[in-house]
Amino acid sequence: MKRFAVVLASALLVAGAAQAQLSDVEQRIVAAVKQRSAQAVDLLEKMVRVNSGTLNVEGVREVGHITRAELDAIGMTTRWEEMPASMQRAGHLVATVDGGKGQRVLLLGHLDTVFEKNSSVALWERRGDRVRGQGVGDMKGGNVVILEALRALHSVGALREARIAVLFTGDEERTGAPLERSRATLVELAKQSDAALSFEASTRLGGNYAASIARRSSGGWTLSVRGRPGHSAGVFAPGQGYGAIYEAARILNAFREQVAEPNLTFNPGLVMGGTSISYSDETATGAAFGKTNVIARDVMVRGDLRFLSPEQGERAKQRMREIVAANLPGTTATIEFRDSYPPMPPTEAGQRLLGAYSRVSVDAGFGPVVAFDPGMRGAGDIQFAAPYVPGVDGLGALGSGSHTDDEDLEVASIERGAIRAALMIYRLTRP
Ligand SMILES: [Zn+2]
Repeated sequence: MKRFAVVLASALLVAGAAQAQLSDVEQRIVAAVKQRSAQAVDLLEKMVRVNSGTLNVEGVREVGHITRAELDAIGMTTRWEEMPASMQRAGHLVATVDGGKGQRVLLLGHLDTVFEKNSSVALWERRGDRVRGQGVGDMKGGNVVILEALRALHSVGALREARIAVLFTGDEERTGAPLERSRATLVELAKQSDAALSFEASTRLGGNYAASIARRSSGGWTLSVRGRPGHSAGVFAPGQGYGAIYEAARILNAFREQVAEPNLTFNPGLVMGGTSISYSDETATGAAFGKTNVIARDVMVRGDLRFLSPEQGERAKQRMREIVAANLPGTTATIEFRDSYPPMPPTEAGQRLLGAYSRVSVDAGFGPVVAFDPGMRGAGDIQFAAPYVPGVDGLGALGSGSHTDDEDLEVASIERGAIRAALMIYRLTRP
């Protein structure tokens, strides 16, 4: 009993110490977030119950309307950014407040999910202290974190003085083409900002919360190989050569042996070869024709390429081109690269921003936040902002199973995320 009392007393001391790190206004911000906890979950449910797979343009717009109403209610200036009809994407929601004080902060969310209209995954299921469903973690939970943080700032009068831009894209999971157009607003807002905070699902790493200050690029390549067709009995012969399939095998093996390095990956995801091949980009399917007694004429390989810095990407591509050019007799090969998301390399400014966020988390009593391994996260919108502004990603709700049938999140993490986000934005936007 006595022992219990001692433990309890020290727990109270720790809690007291955490509170002492927060100013009066900050404590009011925390209280404002907590007061809305139940409504925040209701708001999440309202958003999640609308299917908003990227290609469900109506659904994405509907989630945009729900979100926009919340931003209008706290006095932000909102607009819907239309994309050209040919892009077949819903567009983006932009909200701004320009109080003229403090650092300019950019907040990033997205309205779409990977779950298209025909998905068999249940929209919403509450299971005790967790919820699961379409996009709960990726990233409607994060969107609610943003909204509740802004609402708390509004309730203490701190929002109108700040300079904040919020961008909810409508096509994060399947970005509209061309990227120059679909990501133009994001780039423009990034250029006008001093810090970017993105609210993709948060994670835990060895007992600590983890956020991302570096993310790898995403992009792809297509390898096309040509051989000299002929009777298989002549393969290896000087006049005949090795055929397209041996040459493709040589190239892929050389990639694996000679190009791999930390934080760099490239994965051949599809290979077709034979006397003739056909392939449809639209459906990612193809057909090949060939016979065992004929030397292969055509091979096509499609793969991805992920790197952490532009330099690393250039180095990898150069090495791959050299390997592709060193052809076996009787063959030729070409490789084409396609860049999609630029890399977000780790920077000192990003590290400082994460440090500030970690301090906020400690002050709020949630413990430190460490940097997440960039190799373990896919690509995201913040990477388009990264060339212009330091950023941190993974500040949303804590969940698991993103993009899978088991996507879920811990309900309490919405309140926690909103408290941290509100305090972080508050501190960044102080004059
Ligand atoms: Zn996402």
